Formats: sequence, C-alpha cells, structure tokens
Amino acid sequence: MEKKVYLDNAATTYVATEVLNEMMPCFNVFYGNPNSIHSFGREAVGLVDRARDRIAKAIGARSNEIYFTSGGTEADNWAIKGLAHAYAYKGKHIITSKIEHPAVLGACKALEAEGFEVTYLPVDQNGLVSLAELIHAIRKDTILISIMAVNNEVGTIQNIKAIGKTAKENDIVFHTDAVQAFGALKLDVMDMEIDAMSLSSHKIYGPKGVGALYVRNGIRIENLIDGGHQERNRRGGTTNVPGVVGFGKAAEIAIRDMHIFNQKVKSLRDYFVKEITSKIPYIKINGHPHQKVNNIVNVSFELVDGEAVLMMLDFEGIAVSTGSACLSGATEPSYVLASMGVEPELSQGSIRFSFGRSTTKADIDYTVEKLVEVIEKLRKISPQTKAGRKGDK
Ligand SMILES: *Cc1c(COP(=O)(O)O)cnc(C)c1O
Repeated sequence: MEKKVYLDNAATTYVATEVLNEMMPCFNVFYGNPNSIHSFGREAVGLVDRARDRIAKAIGARSNEIYFTSGGTEADNWAIKGLAHAYAYKGKHIITSKIEHPAVLGACKALEAEGFEVTYLPVDQNGLVSLAELIHAIRKDTILISIMAVNNEVGTIQNIKAIGKTAKENDIVFHTDAVQAFGALKLDVMDMEIDAMSLSSHKIYGPKGVGALYVRNGIRIENLIDGGHQERNRRGGTTNVPGVVGFGKAAEIAIRDMHIFNQKVKSLRDYFVKEITSKIPYIKINGHPHQKVNNIVNVSFELVDGEAVLMMLDFEGIAVSTGSACLSGATEPSYVLASMGVEPELSQGSIRFSFGRSTTKADIDYTVEKLVEVIEKLRKISPQTKAGRKGDK
C-alpha cells in the first residue's frame, strides 16, 4: 500500500503550513494566559484579539460578536440550547430540518426532553428545505429557526438569505450551522440576516478542537459552559490560544483563497463525475444538481455495500466516507439520504468523496481506476450477499 489519496476533506483537513507557523510560538513563547494582567497575559490577549478580528472579518461581523468554542459541536449545542433557554419566555417551539448535523439534532432532542417542541422540516430529493414549508411551520410560539447552510453529506446549499429574511419578518431568532459553508461560499451575517452561526476550524485547514459561535449583538443567549470571565463572561475556560490563533489564520487564508479553491475543486469534481458516470453503470449522484458546494460529491452505487467499498478503497490507500454511522457492525442507512427519498438499497451503497487543496488530477485518475475495479468485484458477489443479509433478518 504505497499510494495514499485523501478524499475525506469534509471530515477533516490537514493543518496548513502557514497556520502551523503562526501557532507554534503560542505553545512555548507566547504562552501566557490571556486572563492574566501581566505582560505575558497581554501578549496572549493581543494574539487572541487578532484571531477574533480575522474571524469577524471573514463573515462580516463585529469582533465582539465572535465567541470561541471547542469546535462546531459546542457552537451548535450552545446556539440551540442557549438561544432556546434565553427565549423560552416567548415560546417553546423550534424549527430545524431533518438533515442537520448530529450536534444540532442532538441538542434539539435534549430540548424536547425538557418540554420544547421541535418541528423537523423535510427536504426535497435535492436536499433543499422548502421556504413555503418553513413559513407554514411557523407558529406564534416559534422562537428559533436553525437550518444548516451546507449539508456535510451531500453538499446542498440552503437558501440561507431567504430563510434569514423570513425569520426576521416573523421576529424569530435564526441560527445556521455554517461549518461546511465556511471557506466554500461567501457568508455575510448582515446580508443573510443571521443571528447566530456555528463555525469550526478543522474543516478549513486549521487545528481540531476549536471553533466559534457568532451571536449578533442584542440577541440573548444563555451560557452553555459556566466558569471564569473568558469570552466576555459567556464561555468559561482558559482560551486555547494556539488553537484560536490557528483558526484565525485558517479563516483568513480560506477567504483569501476561496475563489482559487473553488475553481480547483470544481474542475476536479466535474472531471471525477464525468469519469465515473462514463465508466461505472448504475450510479446516482446525490444532492442538488447545481446549488451545492464544489468539494463534496455523494454517489450511490447500485448493488454494493458502501462499507465494503470504503474498506476496499482503503486497502488501495484511498480514504473516503460512507456518511452513515457504523453502529455495532451493522450499517445504518444515512438519515440525510433517507430524508431525500433515496431508497435504502441505494443509500446502502453510497460514498462521499470530498476534495481538498492538495487533491490532484492524478489522485482522481487513481481513484477512478480503483473504483471501477472495486465496484465490479463487489457487484459480482452482490446477489449472494444481498440474499444473505435479507435472510439474517
Ligand atoms: C464537522 C461538522 C460539525 C462539527 O464540528 P466539530 O468542530 O468537528 O465539532 C458540525 N456541523 C457540520 C455541518 C460539520 O460538518
């Protein structure tokens, strides 16, 4: 196993060298606690402030609207629970979608157990939430709408601006999980009328374990993590200075290079789709035909098991994802694809390929070559395995 091809950039990315270079001195030179008032602390504050400015600038927010967190998951949990609790005096109804990230769905489940009511909007076959259905779901006691900007499994881009406008018109707080959108498309919290937005560092070539929640000034939110006076009394815990600094740099680069990145991954994606469509029969590309990010392609291969495809590609050094969580050895069909109406048999054979800055045309050629072999092999043995699985039940 010599060649290595990483096509799982939607799961995480490597840390860019420019990012790493800015982080390094934060570990052993500028190691002060930003909460300390001496010179070491002030130095660290300066670095954290600069990072905050960079994140704010990247999304058209003010610096004092950015709160650093331990990642996208914490930002989602904080937004959903913190906003719901802060506005519970007005009502207890929340609207989200069926295809949100588990962090959002999990936070909603937790609120349901507390007595909140949650409407999970369906999506169409392209993965889009309907604005008409959103408007229809709004009630007098609706206090929060949370709809992701870009879906992590299929790449579909929601009509965030229209949703933001609808939320505003109905005086409802609007949160969006923009983890997969950040660096892939332009985000402007003013223009899109977004009240709260979750971001993560490790999907944009920054370090893991750091993210941010943007909260518009004037919007109330309860704390999720109580403790010290960090993050203007809203998020306790000593600041992860190297992480935050790396995230700030990663955001700056992502915005700076967004156009080039999109051009690059789009041409690779289009080439990949053209190749597999012509070389492999019985496949289906999932997601919106054009309203989608350029770096994610989700493909259903008929008559094969996604997990088997993943493992056989891994054997050839190719890293991809099935999107479906592997639960105690049994593959659960993806809830995102199921919501889009993809039949379980097809969804079972689905693979997410996500391209990144370092992906090359040679990587795609190698992947297509191996994919053709793998699918052919698996399809040969498919009738037996299918019958076997059905017989087990
Ligand atoms: C990765 C991801 C998250 C979680 O972010 P972490 O920083 O890994 O906790 C949340 N939402 C979406 C859409 C994601 O892709």
